[in-house]
Amino acid sequence: MLTDEQGRAKCVACGLCPQICPANCIKLVPGEDEEGHRYPLIYEIDEFRCIFCGYCQEVCPEEAIHVGVHYENSEYSRDRFVYDLERLTAQTHPVSTLWDPSDPKGE
Ligand code: SF4
Ligand code: SF4
Repeated sequence: MLTDEQGRAKCVACGLCPQICPANCIKLVPGEDEEGHRYPLIYEIDEFRCIFCGYCQEVCPEEAIHVGVHYENSEYSRDRFVYDLERLTAQTHPVSTLWDPSDPKGE
């Protein structure tokens, strides 16, 4: 999950990625600030259920969520595979070649 200059998630809680996710592994609870800007109150991805299809990345209008190339995540408990917003925004792995945000049309 990419962040803006203020360190906030670029997600605007549009709801497209949880809608399109074939594994139904994205949990989104949208919020809205006093100026009417939407943001995710809760945004979680269950990496046990994710099939790394990249649809969330493809559908995001803000280019906020990306599939990374790092897949060898290991944990000692199952609940650690549910990535919340804090853990998602802390990811620094390169974006996969499924889609290059700097070249969105693949030209
Ligand atoms: S990459 Fe994972 S989280 Fe994204 S749409 Fe596909 S299954 Fe869902
Ligand atoms: S598609 Fe993008 S902006 Fe919309 S809820 Fe998902 S991450 Fe947020």
